[in-house]
Amino acid sequence: MTKTETKSTVLVKHHLKTLKLPTMHSECEKTAARAAKDNLDHLACLLALCELELVDRERRAAERRLKAARFPSTKTLDEFDFAAQPSINKPLVLELAKGDWIDKRETLLIVGASGTGKTHLATALATAACLQGRKVRFFRVTELITTMLEARDERTLLRLRSQLAKQHLIVLDELGYVPASKAGAELLFDLIGSAYERQSLLVTTNLPFENWTEVLGSEWLTGAALDRLTHRCHILEANGESYRLQDAKRRRRSRIKE
Ligand code: ADP
Ligand code: MG
Repeated sequence: MTKTETKSTVLVKHHLKTLKLPTMHSECEKTAARAAKDNLDHLACLLALCELELVDRERRAAERRLKAARFPSTKTLDEFDFAAQPSINKPLVLELAKGDWIDKRETLLIVGASGTGKTHLATALATAACLQGRKVRFFRVTELITTMLEARDERTLLRLRSQLAKQHLIVLDELGYVPASKAGAELLFDLIGSAYERQSLLVTTNLPFENWTEVLGSEWLTGAALDRLTHRCHILEANGESYRLQDAKRRRRSRIKE
């Protein structure tokens, strides 16, 4: 015990640790000292400590949710240059960022050519949902299919499905880049089917709807998948040029000017 530590300080800190209140544990002496200086009563001091713990707890939970979502990179809407992609409906994006569509278990499709910011928007919107307290899991479609096929072979598919069923939002990025095998397409369809009206899906794709059969194989499966995905869905369409290409052109122009 140091000179300034009384018996009650030691005991309070011990109990706070046992009760798993780490912020109250680390802040209790400082807050008590400040309360004494400002003439606050005991309950006001306790209130300040509870608030610190709650704020910190929410921050830790948000960090955990972000980690669990496994985003490929950090992207925010603030970094998205809407002027560079005028076909993207900005008011709709800002509305979607509030997350109500996820509570209503609706779907979001982001359609556009490579480099038009689909993954950026998907990550930014899903990150916003995460920070608002929702559970999110991000997959590239090929990665998800591989994971599901492996789980099926290892007989852990049920476990994987129940993990996925706990998410409020599942992001399926890059549908259409690589055609799925028959078994892969069936597993993907299974996920789309079980998420229907229970969870939200955010799908990004470079493929117009009429070409989805090329990826999913069967006409029937594609029809059924589209039917579920487009029921109560929002669509963001990027018709513009690739952002990287625009960026390269801008740089080239500024080099020529120099
Ligand atoms: P896509 O998924 O459509 O192929 P990405 O989202 O991966 O495209 O975008 C490619 C790169 O360009 C990323 O680094 C992304 O952050 C950036 N980017 C794309 N569009 C924009 C935009 N409108 N504003 C800012 N950055 C953008
Ligand atoms: Mg992408």
